[in-house]
Amino acid sequence: MFVCLYIFPVYVNASENKENIYQERMHLYKTYETPFVPWHRLAAVDQYERNIQEVRKDIPKRDSAIAIQFSHEFWVGEFNPNVEDTSPFTIQYFGGNGHDGNGDGKADRNDDQDVLFTMVSYLEKFGPSEEDFKNALWEYYKNEKIINQIMTINELYKHFNTIQLDKHIFPLPVRGYNYSYKGTWGASRGWGGRRIHEGTDIFAGYGTPVLSTSYGVVEVMGWNQFGGWRVGIRDHHNTYHYYAHLAYYNKDLKVGDIVEPGTILGGVGSSGYGKEGTSGKFPPHLHYGMYKFNGRTEWAFDPYPYLVQWEKQTKQEKK
Ligand SMILES: [Zn+2]
Repeated sequence: MFVCLYIFPVYVNASENKENIYQERMHLYKTYETPFVPWHRLAAVDQYERNIQEVRKDIPKRDSAIAIQFSHEFWVGEFNPNVEDTSPFTIQYFGGNGHDGNGDGKADRNDDQDVLFTMVSYLEKFGPSEEDFKNALWEYYKNEKIINQIMTINELYKHFNTIQLDKHIFPLPVRGYNYSYKGTWGASRGWGGRRIHEGTDIFAGYGTPVLSTSYGVVEVMGWNQFGGWRVGIRDHHNTYHYYAHLAYYNKDLKVGDIVEPGTILGGVGSSGYGKEGTSGKFPPHLHYGMYKFNGRTEWAFDPYPYLVQWEKQTKQEKK
């Protein structure tokens, strides 16, 4: 006699689901961290890998709690004839890096615990300092921008002692100030030749506070002939947030500082379109741009749909 097993769909709240995956990941990071390789370094590499898998079509998406994935050569050894080798002994013999983390006797590159233990073992060989970590990343990725992105994630996770940094807000106060914006993605620009508009302009009065929309690290501050006084902030999703045409900066802020949603970056202005200090060539507004780093290049994407969503959320929160 057959027994039929029906799988009933279980309704799981989306945010609850998200919370669970964060807990599961954090538990794994903490299980495999060592005195030389604290959890936030492991978590930063893992998050970087997850970020690029979301936007790259040429690399497979690892469908598991952990996103780190190793090449066959790295795992089993370059000259190992068995590219699917899971024996720790032959892998070691052929100079592969794959390890058995969970103690089941197999070094399986599809197993999250084996993957994390392998990453820890690799990073540990370089030593405990931040410089050692950077050297390990250089050896692995051979790309300065990737190292910068991973170090940013590492700093944020370490500073806030969590991997739950998804909160976003609207870049201007949603109450007490007038502002207006619309989707102008790709419109032609008035100055500087044939460039298309890569961002959203939010018109507001001079001096209206400009707030960080995300958690992040200040990467750029200073004058740019197009953007005037501008701030660039990198977050843990490989996204670079660009705030331009400011009238002034928050004096307490400098490159390398950590910000959170709501940190005041400066005030709305009309700086830019000329040499340092040029202002007043257009009505005051915040130019807000978003750029995604995919491990190779960085490209602009339309912030407008995000702004609409964050504005709504920020308004609801403040009720
Ligand atoms: Zn603009």
